[in-house]
Amino acid sequence: SKYSKEDILKMAEEKNVRFIRMQFTDILGIVKNVAITFKQLEDALDNKIMFDGSSIDGFTRIQESDMYLRPDYDTFTIFPWRPEEGGAVARLICDVYMPDGTPFAGGPRNVLKKALKEAEEMGYEMNVGPEPEFFLFQLDENGEATTKTHDNGGYFDLGPIDKGINARRSIVLALEEMGFEVEASHHEVAPGQHEIDFKYAPALETADNIATFKFVTKSIAHEHGLHATFMPKPIFGENGSGMHVHQSLFKDGKNVFYDENDRLGLSKTAYHYIGGLLKHARAITAITNPSINSYKRLVPGYEAPVYVAWSSANRSALIRIPAARGAGTRLELRNPDPSANPYLAIAVMLKAGLDGIKNEIEPPAEVLENIYEMSAARKEESNIESLPANIDEAVGLLLEDEVITSVLGNHVLEHFAAAKKVEWDEYRTQVSQWELDKYLSTF
Ligand code: GLU
Ligand code: MG
Ligand code: MG
Repeated sequence: SKYSKEDILKMAEEKNVRFIRMQFTDILGIVKNVAITFKQLEDALDNKIMFDGSSIDGFTRIQESDMYLRPDYDTFTIFPWRPEEGGAVARLICDVYMPDGTPFAGGPRNVLKKALKEAEEMGYEMNVGPEPEFFLFQLDENGEATTKTHDNGGYFDLGPIDKGINARRSIVLALEEMGFEVEASHHEVAPGQHEIDFKYAPALETADNIATFKFVTKSIAHEHGLHATFMPKPIFGENGSGMHVHQSLFKDGKNVFYDENDRLGLSKTAYHYIGGLLKHARAITAITNPSINSYKRLVPGYEAPVYVAWSSANRSALIRIPAARGAGTRLELRNPDPSANPYLAIAVMLKAGLDGIKNEIEPPAEVLENIYEMSAARKEESNIESLPANIDEAVGLLLEDEVITSVLGNHVLEHFAAAKKVEWDEYRTQVSQWELDKYLSTF
């Protein structure tokens, strides 16, 4: 590993770190943390920090609430911003353990580690590069988030300096100070929409990075008087925010998706991985697109996928093969959105791909036409299925897929399904403005 215990203690002392946030993620992907002081850091590094897990959503029962946080030394990072009282704040990402020393089954990071172990046993290492998109919105006079964008003329005058662009620049600089390699950042299609891409990394590191990225973006945006949201579809009629996931497998340092002799430059392993992803796509969507709102994005016409198909070229397909070959050979899964728990999302994608490799699942022929424009009959003929239409259907498909549920484990699965049921019931019983507009005078 990158750092030893001594390295961390030394860095913390040198940089005058007063508080260390012990960070972890709950089943629904919300980042949690417990702050400890510098005095407790050594104990923390020796895995002696306990916390009461009973208060964390989906974690554990009252009777067995004491859990341990085991920091991953390599995730030690000092935040580039400082509290007003002075001194610095650092964080360590932790794995959650039971009092008896076994990994907690409800810890998403443990789930991803389990999936990665399976890959490792097959000789593979997974690399992942995400493309998270988000919106920057104005705050109202009470400091509450609105859906007004900074670059939407009409709400307020466009000045010479775009607040959103400035905020994005600060976000990128903060991420770089925290060790991110930011490859590109740009304004996205919709007003107020942005994307920041950071360099691909081993899967676990990328999942940690996504979790960190989201709260850094939110807090820096707030300093600029803006609200950053990773809600997938905040504005009807505009593009939503996706989080495309580029993925590849390496063996002995070589990309195993590349084969120079193939027509498309893809190996058998790559085709099988695609086959597995497509086979399980409808089931994993519950995890990669876990909110009610996720499904408002997965509709034709907004560069988001709707149909289960792959393509070496067009962006209407669920899986696209970016042009890079050699070490950069990879596939891009386009349905995930940034409301997903990054650990669980990467775990289920990997599991689906590995199943394809193990069972040599051949993908169907690639689709070169724009699928949004294909007729229903033509799609039927080509066996092109649709992604689930809502979270309720998606959870149903997930529960039926034994391959995917096996990697999540019962604890995560049961909690996730129960939470989504409550969310769905709450949502489906609402009466929306759309219904009032549609029916109030008609009937
Ligand atoms: N915002 C689009 C989506 O919902 C993606 C646009 C792009 O290709 O970057 O997935
Ligand atoms: Mg994009
Ligand atoms: Mg993309």
